[in-house]
Amino acid sequence: MEKGLQLYEGKAKKVFAAEDPDLLIVYYKDDATAFNGLKRGTIAGKGIINNRMSNALMMLLEKHGIPTHYVREIGERETLVKKAEIIPLEVIVRNISAGSFAKRYGVEEGIAFEQPAVEFSYKNDALGDPLLNDSHALALRLASREELEKIRAYSLRINEVLRQFWNTRGVTLVDFKLEFGRLGDGSIVLADEISPDTCRLWDSKTGEKLDKDRFRRDLGGVEEAYREIMDRLEKQPEPEKSGENLHD
Ligand code: ADP
Ligand code: UDP
Repeated sequence: MEKGLQLYEGKAKKVFAAEDPDLLIVYYKDDATAFNGLKRGTIAGKGIINNRMSNALMMLLEKHGIPTHYVREIGERETLVKKAEIIPLEVIVRNISAGSFAKRYGVEEGIAFEQPAVEFSYKNDALGDPLLNDSHALALRLASREELEKIRAYSLRINEVLRQFWNTRGVTLVDFKLEFGRLGDGSIVLADEISPDTCRLWDSKTGEKLDKDRFRRDLGGVEEAYREIMDRLEKQPEPEKSGENLHD
């Protein structure tokens, strides 16, 4: 499929027009940034992994009733998606304390929550993506009350599906960021990406970090971690221990 005009270049992806005006082509780069663009680098092969992983997880979510922007993978770094009006909110779901949560509230990393924590940030690089609550989002007219409720419900459901999926692959889903958009008919879809750039994924046994924190924190083995998490995604899930009660 021919890419049309480049409409946007972001930190991790480029966005192109598609032949169909209701669709876009997203191209995944190897560029990596952290700390609101202060730290820059390249993770070789990341674009290919993030494209494949995001598409696989969006297909999984569709199967579980979550509408997404995903249409079709058209190349190793390129995917056709539904064009959405992005709601300028970064929705973060957390199962375990880490990153800015641990820093902000002065707690250590690795504390498992009884209930997932959901938070919204205003997607605005110039302001450093400040945290906001529902009433702020309403005051700023970023979304309606109904949309916020839908976004929160979808995000919690996505967490359940992804948590269970990664569990069967020996990976703990610590936290992640989502973006949602509106289609032409006003419906809400999950957009952007779900990848090791936007999730914290820890090996369930060793606690080893298999995500962008290796880059953010100069832990080394960045490319290897991206390849390892992709292998885990594609490997057969560990069999359920359903045979345990069979006495034959
Ligand atoms: P950033 O803009 O934060 O640097 P990226 O490099 O990932 O991020 O750029 C991709 C851009 O495309 C983001 O601004 C994202 O919100 C936007 N986007 C993702 N999915 C869609 C979609 N389905 N329709 C329109 N825009 C999208
Ligand atoms: N995240 C993201 N983009 C952002 C901010 C956060 O994808 O602009 C993801 C991040 O990878 C992590 C989760 O959201 O999985 C929570 O990030 P946190 O708020 O702890 O911020 P960070 O430590 O990345 O500054």
